[in-house]
Amino acid sequence: MSFSRILGQDTAVDVLRRALRTGKLAHAYLFEGIEGCGKKTTALALVAAAFCGDGEGCGHCPSCRKMPSCQHPDLHLVGPDGAFIKIDQIRDLQRELVLRPVEAPMKACIIDEADRLNPAAANALLKTLEEPPGNALIILLTSRLAGILPTVRSRCQLLRFGQLPERIIEDELLRRGTAPAAARMAASLAGGSLGRALELGEQSDTAVRGELLKRLATLSLGNITPLFEAAEELSANRETAVETLDELTSLLRDVMLIQGGGTDVVNRDLLPLLEQEAGRTTLEQSGERIARIMEARQALGRNANPRLTLDVLLMRLAW
Ligand SMILES: [Zn+2]
Repeated sequence: MSFSRILGQDTAVDVLRRALRTGKLAHAYLFEGIEGCGKKTTALALVAAAFCGDGEGCGHCPSCRKMPSCQHPDLHLVGPDGAFIKIDQIRDLQRELVLRPVEAPMKACIIDEADRLNPAAANALLKTLEEPPGNALIILLTSRLAGILPTVRSRCQLLRFGQLPERIIEDELLRRGTAPAAARMAASLAGGSLGRALELGEQSDTAVRGELLKRLATLSLGNITPLFEAAEELSANRETAVETLDELTSLLRDVMLIQGGGTDVVNRDLLPLLEQEAGRTTLEQSGERIARIMEARQALGRNANPRLTLDVLLMRLAW
């Protein structure tokens, strides 16, 4: 929860750092930028720094430790309740902001998706922006500047957040443990939003399962080197190996289902590949393969040598 952790938003972060250093924080900020580009993370870092009083936030005092979970009694978060932010939510916020801070030197609030303030709520908020209670710090976030009343906008200092470069997104996904191929794909499809990339990173699991099925189809006893390479790769991590075997079982169940004339497959996103595999093997063979995978999975659970178990399994799956 510090400025140093914010990715690719140097301009906005520089402005805020300077304001903190010189004691010239604005009462109200409006952060504008696409979803998932770091607006909220930056807002939390700003509040953390303002509350801590130790430079940009020390990260370990009681105040700083409450920030990551947003549990600080002087920080108030507001967001849409249903489709809109309603006037009651703004009134509740106003009641909080006029109270004395409990622990921090000031009260602070972050209003997420501020373009969804309904007209009554926006007008109520306007009063607070015109006469901020005490030295409260108010931060509005939006991905749709056109949805903010001009009167609200003119009372806030506007900071624009740019789209994140692909390279930065890819590196962050890798740091969080996404596989390299999936990280590259998600970064290229995310349109500059780390949030979107993280969602895609999860979805690109389709790609991972597809790859698994293709590999299964190309396992061949006539070409043993790739087979042993696959076993070596898979055996590096017992946990991943077990997960992979579970995925394979689920895929082969679908193949069996298609071979038996069914259509209600689980891995619907991979239907063409499943049908291909179903045409290449028989129902009996699919059953046999599932049985072999289950055996290997049990062996891994009993602490069998992973490399040996997987060498044997892949040979049995190939032909
Ligand atoms: Zn601190």
